[in-house]
Amino acid sequence: MADLRRALELVRTVPDFPEPGVLFRDLNPLFADAEAVRTVVDAMAAGLPADVDVIAAVEARGFLLGGPVAVALGCGLVPIRKPGKLPAVADRVDYSLEYGTASLELPAGVLEPGQRVAVVDDVLATGGTVAAVCQLVERAGARVSAVSVVLELTALGGRGLLPGRDIQVLQTI
Ligand code: 5GP
Repeated sequence: MADLRRALELVRTVPDFPEPGVLFRDLNPLFADAEAVRTVVDAMAAGLPADVDVIAAVEARGFLLGGPVAVALGCGLVPIRKPGKLPAVADRVDYSLEYGTASLELPAGVLEPGQRVAVVDDVLATGGTVAAVCQLVERAGARVSAVSVVLELTALGGRGLLPGRDIQVLQTI
């Protein structure tokens, strides 16, 4: 618990990034600290159901967490990518986020119907990103078992877009 608190204290708050008025939570000091990463990955893995088949990790910071969480759980990983990166795309969702609009794509041929999926990302803000990933997963016929993020920015109301979801959060701000 003390280790987790110390790890989360490494998150830096950067004002006016990427736009004036936005308080950006920068996890890079946490990612740079081996102990902190281990602590955070272990806590995320421990909060997820044991029967997860696949981690759906969101580009890009979600990859840094989703990979080690998948290894810790002994399950696979599907990278959810920004447009233009995948050689073969199964599906795409366009959505709005705290600062602008975005799209995410599911790679073709990697997610199977019925698989139990945990969505992993660094921050839950407005919820648009995680909601888009849930849409991609469910349109592929798989199931979202849980969502796991390091930080939830509660003022942005992300849970409103994720009714009924099991959302595991290490810290709310
Ligand atoms: P949402 O779609 O919930 O509004 O935003 C979440 C997505 O934007 C996540 O993929 C996350 O990486 C990024 N994001 C939004 N706000 C922040 C922030 O303050 N810090 C970090 N590290 N990422 C953020």
